[in-house]
Amino acid sequence: MELGHRVCIRDLNPHIVCILCAGYFIDATTITECLHTFCKSCIVKYLQTTKFCPMCNIKVHETQPLLNLKIDRTLQDIVYKVVPGLWDNEMKRCQDFEKMRGLKRYEEESADGTLEDVEDSSVSTQHYFMHDELIHICLQPFETESENNKGPKYPSQKFVRCSVRAQVFHLKKLIQKIWPHTSKKELVVMCNGEFLPDNHCLKRIWLSHSKEINPPLKLQFWIKN
Ligand SMILES: [Zn+2]
Ligand SMILES: [Zn+2]
Repeated sequence: MELGHRVCIRDLNPHIVCILCAGYFIDATTITECLHTFCKSCIVKYLQTTKFCPMCNIKVHETQPLLNLKIDRTLQDIVYKVVPGLWDNEMKRCQDFEKMRGLKRYEEESADGTLEDVEDSSVSTQHYFMHDELIHICLQPFETESENNKGPKYPSQKFVRCSVRAQVFHLKKLIQKIWPHTSKKELVVMCNGEFLPDNHCLKRIWLSHSKEINPPLKLQFWIKN
């Protein structure tokens, strides 16, 4: 059984490995003109300097190649299922990433008030962060009580762009900065009515909870009683 599983993966490799980075697909993204697939971050970066497919050289689009890219979440889910440890590696990278720069990054951004767009161009140039990807999320207080309307005016929702490696407990820190009345309180974060554990990262939440094709990923929170 174990052996059979391995053989199977070896046979599959040509279909689930990105030729641009030689790793398994992360955010598998397909060119609609020729159906060749790459990691999203790999192909987006590649198409910044050319309009042609790296595999077959077809012209992806006359002027804006990114228009002819489509995220293939089904394929990505298959990759996570058939490659043992890939998901665990992603989680590990998630943690290392946060250790190295994630938390610091949030603090810096909230200090100068530019939370909405935290893209960092230096990230894509480093091999370690080759797969780093940002996700748009929409944070909303769950409106069951008037808690949110007390005191100073707090936003009814906030759009934030952050790393797919950020975890729920990082989001909670972010929420507490955006909605100061929640600070020092225990928060509950939900997606589509499901409770999210502190150690789940946005990537995982996106894959398992969101029914929608396009961001933002909508998350609700409230103060735990
Ligand atoms: Zn790649
Ligand atoms: Zn192609």
